Amino acid sequence: MTEDINRQFKPLIQDQGLPELKKWMADHGEPAYRAGQVFSWVHGKQVTSFDAMTNLSKSLRAKLAKDYDAAPLAMVQRQVSETDGTNKFLYRLRDGQCIETVFMPYHHGNSVCVSSQAGCSMGCTFCASTIGGKVRDLMRGEILAQVYETQRLTGEPVSNAVIMGTGEPLDNTEEVIGFIRLLADPYGQNMSMRNITLSTCGIVPGIYRLAEEKMPITLALSLHAPTQEKREKLMPIARRYHLDEVMRACDDYREATGRRETFEYALVAGVNDTDEDVRELAQLLKGRSAHVNLIPVNPVRTSKARRPERGHVLEFQKKLEKSGINGTIRREMGADIDGACGQLRRRQGV
Ligand code: SAH
Repeated sequence: MTEDINRQFKPLIQDQGLPELKKWMADHGEPAYRAGQVFSWVHGKQVTSFDAMTNLSKSLRAKLAKDYDAAPLAMVQRQVSETDGTNKFLYRLRDGQCIETVFMPYHHGNSVCVSSQAGCSMGCTFCASTIGGKVRDLMRGEILAQVYETQRLTGEPVSNAVIMGTGEPLDNTEEVIGFIRLLADPYGQNMSMRNITLSTCGIVPGIYRLAEEKMPITLALSLHAPTQEKREKLMPIARRYHLDEVMRACDDYREATGRRETFEYALVAGVNDTDEDVRELAQLLKGRSAHVNLIPVNPVRTSKARRPERGHVLEFQKKLEKSGINGTIRREMGADIDGACGQLRRRQGV
């Protein structure tokens, strides 16, 4: 499918790094410094038309426009939470695919949650993003444009990014790595890698591949259950990658990068929220100085998963702490605007 979009459309200028732009300039008889100028228009000033690149000659702009597209996406819907200022955007890509991006204002800096695929093929039972399967991988420029456009539309600077929207980032690893590198580029958004979190359902080869890059980003593992047996019930991918293997890959990631991973745990009433689960979870994470993010599951129409009562969630956290494991309950943002992942996209019938 990604091949289809490459055949149908011109390459995106947002997909190009400095080496690619330099090569294009050389091929077109232009001096190399022009590549730097284009790079800083696209990734620094974040313009989406060649006409805006006013320090380039008209003829150079026309040549660039002949070879590249400069507008990866357009907004089709925006919802603003009245309670906490969360903004949820639905963007349409050039081929008509729609994706969701969420803007979350925080005191420590604004954060954007980006999608890495249109749809998802992982099949987690409680997740709305996977309902229609995966349509295609996003290109790095399409992931970047979610940050740039969200920043432009809100008028607010963005200092943090979480790759936690629709899609499995380690099912689109090379584009996601390219996205992270461009997002952190000093001549672009210049985001600190320490402020970037990648969340995965546990694709083992992807975790090793990411570790090789030695980028100081935070890895978040969607754990959701403390045992192989329970995990398989919630997440089909667990049948492919055994929990032991996943935990080993996380240990390797921590050693390679010096970054402590976080574990996400969506609490589902009666499924993974019992005292036995607390004990097993503490056992699994013992000695890993782990941090657990507890997320009371967001109800999705197609799933029977229900969230535990608030009091029970607090109890679960307390018991976990008593067993020596740090856990925080994720503050719920944008509960009044189609909170759970992928629900806005689904509501559009895409
Ligand atoms: N594919 C990546 C990113 C997915 S979304 C991953 O699996 O990690 C980010 C987090 O939200 C994941 O931990 C995912 O399991 C969780 N999530 C998905 N649907 C949810 C729901 N309905 N309620 C609570 N958390 C959910």
